[in-house]
Amino acid sequence: MKKQLLSLFAAFLISIPGFTQSSYYFPGETFDPSIPSPQEFLGYPIGDWHTRYDLIVKYFEKLDEISELAELKTIGYTYEHRPKIILTIASAAHIDNLEEIRKTHIQLTDPSQPKPDVATMPSIMHLGYGVHGNEPSSAEAAMLTAYWLLASQSELAQNLRENSVVHIDPTVNPDGRDRHSLWANSNKGFPPVADPLDREHNEAWPGGRTNHYWFDLNRDWLPLAHVESQVKIDWYHEWYPNVTTDFHEMGTDATYFFEPTKPFGSENPVVPRKNYEEINVRFANYFAEYLDEIGSLYYTKESFDNSYPGYGSTYPDIQGGLGLVFEQASSRGHLQSSQRGDISFAFTIKNHLVSSIATLEAGLDNRIYMHDYLREFFETAVSEGSKDPAKNYVFGDEYDQSRNLLFVNFLLDHKIKVYENTSDLSVGGYDFKAGKSWVVPTAQPQYRM
Ligand SMILES: [Zn+2]
Repeated sequence: MKKQLLSLFAAFLISIPGFTQSSYYFPGETFDPSIPSPQEFLGYPIGDWHTRYDLIVKYFEKLDEISELAELKTIGYTYEHRPKIILTIASAAHIDNLEEIRKTHIQLTDPSQPKPDVATMPSIMHLGYGVHGNEPSSAEAAMLTAYWLLASQSELAQNLRENSVVHIDPTVNPDGRDRHSLWANSNKGFPPVADPLDREHNEAWPGGRTNHYWFDLNRDWLPLAHVESQVKIDWYHEWYPNVTTDFHEMGTDATYFFEPTKPFGSENPVVPRKNYEEINVRFANYFAEYLDEIGSLYYTKESFDNSYPGYGSTYPDIQGGLGLVFEQASSRGHLQSSQRGDISFAFTIKNHLVSSIATLEAGLDNRIYMHDYLREFFETAVSEGSKDPAKNYVFGDEYDQSRNLLFVNFLLDHKIKVYENTSDLSVGGYDFKAGKSWVVPTAQPQYRM
């Protein structure tokens, strides 16, 4: 009986002729007909194929071209020369006024400046998808989320456009994305083959998880060794989003995971407790509610790590925002059998779409609260730094200027204030020469970094 129910359930998940994305992904919603849906633009329902990255870019270019509520920015290029893009969506008035909004927002991160009137400021949210290229539901969900936010006539979408600025990065790792998409599409069966042993579900080494140099970009937000992360962190510090998402996939037999992460051994001690105990919980209630509504199974607080600043979901926690990791059981291919029946690609995409919209609603409802928190984060960073027994750190290699330059630039990339030392110093048995050493004061906004 249970098995029959499961296969009946699975049948609904496989795309069928006449299947339209609106009825599956957005039941009951109405859309601005002048904005093409991903299905209309691409010529297939989302979930039928792994969308090539150039087509994702083309879709976002189209949205930018036809809507005054969207603005596309290229922030750099990957090693394989794919553009790194951010699509910004908000009301036309906000889009026209983006630079003013940005400047006012980042004033919150500088306690030496007067605090702006947060009641009038839109929430700044950043939806990031697909840092692991072979966790592909994320980028498809990014296109659907952009479409929904731009074209939905629902009260929530209209409210979001009026009271927030949403930045969408559809694929943090475009080179890995295309490596995996090519594998999944070129090994697709007709009809789909769900057998986990099928070639479609067993991508050849090195797979699409990593970038061109096979580096895991979800470890790179701290070392900034790769171009994808360097341009991303530059962009991040232009905006200091209140909320940042990081969408992933996990094993096929799992369900769905959202934060809080497990409390033991995985929380970063420099992140304020309020982040874990209060903010995460506020947001988690929205994810549970949204996933309950579509009957998807999930769990929270039992796994995943939140300690390392090089994760895309932890770095924002050390920058006054909220970083959120989501993990969806992977169909790794278009349809795959699991302990809970067959998982279709469309089903995995739907869960990430629903969590994207839940994040936006939570961010909107907590707009003023998150602005106040951003300010409080940097104010307490300075006050805690001024109580540190160490007032300054000094470093410098008298002979190796290249090493000095690299380290100074590294600190500056993370917006850590560093000053050239102007007099010869002797500290802890080491000599530091004027002009060849540098000083980092602890009483500064980036104290926690
Ligand atoms: Zn991942």
